[in-house]
Amino acid sequence: MTLPDPVDLAIPAFVALVLAEMVVARARNRRLYCPKDTLTSLMLGFGSSVAGLLAGGAVFALAGWVHDFRLVEIGWAWWAFALCFVLDDLAYYLFHRSAHRVRWFWASHVIHHSSQHYNLSTALRQTWTGFFSANFLFRLPLFLIGFPPAMVFFCAGLNLIYQFWIHTEVVGRMPRWFEAVMNTPSHHRVHHAVNARYLDRNYAGVFIIWDRMFGTFEPERDDERPRYGIVTQLGSFNILWAAFHEWIGMARDVWRAPGWRAKLGYMLREPGWSHDGSRLTSERIRALANHPRNGEGDQPQPGGGGASEASLTAPGSPPPPPSAAVTLPVPGRI
Ligand SMILES: [Zn+2]
Ligand SMILES: [Zn+2]
Repeated sequence: MTLPDPVDLAIPAFVALVLAEMVVARARNRRLYCPKDTLTSLMLGFGSSVAGLLAGGAVFALAGWVHDFRLVEIGWAWWAFALCFVLDDLAYYLFHRSAHRVRWFWASHVIHHSSQHYNLSTALRQTWTGFFSANFLFRLPLFLIGFPPAMVFFCAGLNLIYQFWIHTEVVGRMPRWFEAVMNTPSHHRVHHAVNARYLDRNYAGVFIIWDRMFGTFEPERDDERPRYGIVTQLGSFNILWAAFHEWIGMARDVWRAPGWRAKLGYMLREPGWSHDGSRLTSERIRALANHPRNGEGDQPQPGGGGASEASLTAPGSPPPPPSAAVTLPVPGRI
């Protein structure tokens, strides 16, 4: 069975919703959009589509090969679609959590977090290097179980479409039952925030239940507005820098690292890990925010770590303030 790519079909709706959000923001007198930032997001989205097209054949071939070793025969019944959608969302959760906790995957995912604005165009910032970082690994178990590749890719497309509308500040909170089960704008604002309390939280794609089950859920608080981006802000609208800066930073760290253990650490440990402890992971940022006095003395430099953080040490940037407000702009690049 061949199925259309639902993301292609949804593109006109994406454009219409971005325009609608601009109108609502203007009517409410809120500055949600910055033209340069939006243009950067659109170009990054276009680049991601091209990269996806180039790699699509190889990924589909690999999926078919793994499917040949399937454990059970799963047909095209409606329940198979439903089950596939739920399990694919679980696979997405595992991928996304790894994308924030393993620098190799973060190097590819950071592009999605690189905007300091949070609007529907931010959703279009998608990776260019997903194939290189082997993101497809996380979906391979679905093919091995026996779900047909076309079904899995269809569900993955629906998953991506669902995640589009949650990138907005125009929607406050959804009804309680919905917030309990589904990923929502409120939950995903937390995911994109650099506030210490919000770092490395809410990895869900469609169902927020995975975060609740695996202990990574953090509710949005009315008394702490999210601040968006990455802890060491990109500070640039250069799309090539946005797409590759973390790979460059990682390569530099690996090159300079003393010994294989440290070299592997710079690729496989969490963003912000360093062999000499001179940088901040999200755990240390959170600890500093909770217990500022522990951070006095020899303070590590911001240099990666956690959900919303880049691994490049910002030249000349100050050490993080010992408060919940950890935002570290890189001067002079915009
Ligand atoms: Zn993320
Ligand atoms: Zn997002």
